[in-house]
Amino acid sequence: MTEAMHQVLIIEDEPAIRAVLRVLLEAEGYRCIEADSAQRAEIETRSHKPDLLLVDLGLPDGDGLTVIRRVRAWSPVPIVVLSARTMEEQKIAALDAGADDFVTKPFSAPELLARLRAALRRNVRSAQQDSVLQLGALRVDLARRESSGPAGELHLTPLEYRVLECLTRHLGSIVMQRQLIREVWGPEREDDSRSLRVCIKNLRGKLEPDPREPRYLITETGLGYRLRADEEPS
Ligand code: CA
Repeated sequence: MTEAMHQVLIIEDEPAIRAVLRVLLEAEGYRCIEADSAQRAEIETRSHKPDLLLVDLGLPDGDGLTVIRRVRAWSPVPIVVLSARTMEEQKIAALDAGADDFVTKPFSAPELLARLRAALRRNVRSAQQDSVLQLGALRVDLARRESSGPAGELHLTPLEYRVLECLTRHLGSIVMQRQLIREVWGPEREDDSRSLRVCIKNLRGKLEPDPREPRYLITETGLGYRLRADEEPS
């Protein structure tokens, strides 16, 4: 196992799914603890301080959303939702509650593992306050507002830097469209999705090897955007 043994708390009331997840995660070198209810989830989170929470939304004694909100009130631990709920509003509710990512059941094992790795990486990065973003041959220094590629300087506008900064803070995770607009343009512009779309289009023109097939600035339809660093599988 190459990485440190991260501990994952599996919050899931179906014993069969818990067992599948445990086998899958342990094979990747994660240590697992389990909780079969919302109440148990909070107790285990406080006592074990896991590195990541994998949360089912339908729990016997409450909603996973409540668990997410309660934990988020005191902890920045990465939270990935694994749920059969597929409606866009349900994903939005989970992300708004403080989840970092959302994977739907039935899930693909490689995708779930990639999302967990991304959520753990984002956490390490924000802890290190890393402000230099490497996208293939491009290098963007967010603190100094300098960016360059093989052809020289990239000439990003202040707005473009701010959109990138916001996406970088959540590297690998979805950032809701409204959140991006609120942070970059201000709350009074929250419904102005056009400015954001134009900004993303311009950024893709500067950063993407092929802007028509984005590799880094990914659109999450109906939700927002995700910045993907190179080491993640596409
Ligand atoms: Ca359930």
